[in-house]
Amino acid sequence: MKGYGMISVGNPGWLEKDRPEAGPLDAVLRPLALAPCSSDTHAMHGGSGDKKNTILGHEAIGEVVEVGSLVTKFKPGDVVVVPCCTPDWEQLGVQNPRSNAHDSHLMGSFKFLSQKDGTMAEFFHVNNADANLVLLPDGVSMEAALMTVDMMSTGFHGVELADIEFGDTVVVIGIGPVGLMAVAGAKLKGAGRIIAVGTRPNCVKIAREYGATDIVSYKDGDIVEQIVKMTGGGADKVIIAGGNQDTFTGAIAMTRECGIISNVNFFDVSETLSFPAYLWGLGMSNKDIRGGFCPGGARRITRMLEMIKNGRIDPEKLITHRFEGFEAVEEAFLLMDEKPKDLIKPVVII
Ligand code: NDP
Ligand code: ZN
Repeated sequence: MKGYGMISVGNPGWLEKDRPEAGPLDAVLRPLALAPCSSDTHAMHGGSGDKKNTILGHEAIGEVVEVGSLVTKFKPGDVVVVPCCTPDWEQLGVQNPRSNAHDSHLMGSFKFLSQKDGTMAEFFHVNNADANLVLLPDGVSMEAALMTVDMMSTGFHGVELADIEFGDTVVVIGIGPVGLMAVAGAKLKGAGRIIAVGTRPNCVKIAREYGATDIVSYKDGDIVEQIVKMTGGGADKVIIAGGNQDTFTGAIAMTRECGIISNVNFFDVSETLSFPAYLWGLGMSNKDIRGGFCPGGARRITRMLEMIKNGRIDPEKLITHRFEGFEAVEEAFLLMDEKPKDLIKPVVII
């Protein structure tokens, strides 16, 4: 079968591979809708190590073509939503509700990018089908459902880690698709003021539509100074969904005592996270620093789909570019890599 991914680091292209097979608990799917992600392009440039001959992609809606002998909830022909994280639920690590670890393997339930071929293929494999797949519900489009599997799940995880309370002043640093979902989630959780940090005009527009009350540009000077001034001392919660190691230090500086810094940004292995002790109140300020990868599985995605179905959120606003046909995966991936200013999220309908 054909798949699109990385021939080697820095070298994207089409690959020819064997069709995957379903173990007793698993399913094999063919994609109906795919979305390339910044994590895929990051991997292609070496962000996931020295990978070769690997199919990329981890955001998909698919049709079930084969199920293993122990799968009871799905059958060939079913149209399903596939979470980007598909835990092996018998692993003790993932039985901690906030964890994604498999034993000691960091992000062990993020299988597509780290442990096996991804979804940008004629066929792809899903482990633990009964516990991980969700039937596409009536009343939810494939495009909207596709935005739940990583972007909404990750942005909302930033909100969950931040423990937002009614009336909180929340800063969301970065308003790409993940940060935009964090803005929408913060509003749903009852934030008072939501200050979004970013510059791309269409992201700024959508951030406002999702609930941002203020926009700050990191190109207009130090965001810590700007935010401390406009909030009279700092924010209650700061969600990091973009930026670099200096952004992390800045997030601590702009958070009030007893506040929470919640990170879903992927740092690079070459980065060092550090901060002067006074920014953390010499250890006496009760500022929590948290960070994590979105949890996986069917229950989480079912609940996100429920929010779409009941009109609580419209994640389709993230989709700025639409493509048709499997071959268009290449164009969509290369666009994601190039990241033109007007791009938020591309989607390929197959
Ligand atoms: P994007 O690249 O689309 O967006 C990044 C945002 O950060 C943009 O708004 C950008 O501003 C802003 N930004 C860039 N530099 C700075 C800076 N120096 N200071 C402040 N803001 C800055 O990213 P995504 O939304 O796709 O992903 C966000 C992060 O989440 C990435 O690190 C990604 O790897 C990670 N991620 C994490 C997952 C998880 O589960 N933890 C899953 C998926 C993604 P501008 O408007 O100017 O472009
Ligand atoms: Zn993704």
